[in-house]
Amino acid sequence: MLRLFHELPNEHFTADQVYRKLSREPEPCSLASVYRALSQLHEADLISSATLGDARIIYELNRGQRHYHLVCNRCGRIQDAYDPGLEQQQAKIAADQHFHYVTSSLVIFGRCEACEGLPAATPKRFGASG
Ligand SMILES: [Zn+2]
Ligand SMILES: [Zn+2]
Repeated sequence: MLRLFHELPNEHFTADQVYRKLSREPEPCSLASVYRALSQLHEADLISSATLGDARIIYELNRGQRHYHLVCNRCGRIQDAYDPGLEQQQAKIAADQHFHYVTSSLVIFGRCEACEGLPAATPKRFGASG
């Protein structure tokens, strides 16, 4: 199963998507065993997971770099975003509250470039749905 993540290192999969991809293989496995394997790979730090606002959990190859997710409300596309400065800021917010920062998860919802039909540099409107 890890092969799937290595073949598509920038992809994000839900357990269901992994299951559907694997069911095309010569030796298909059950959805329960997909969940089991995903949690084992996750515990071994080989893949990382993130929860999206709508209770979807996605898995992806652990590339050792913390990142954030931009999720398109319309087509469901998931993009990665990196901002080490933002992480430092979150650690500072935590420290200000005498809170030891360990990790955080940020998901930004909006519309992707293709759905919005605007050039990437144009500021996006967030929050409004529909
Ligand atoms: Zn989109
Ligand atoms: Zn990601």
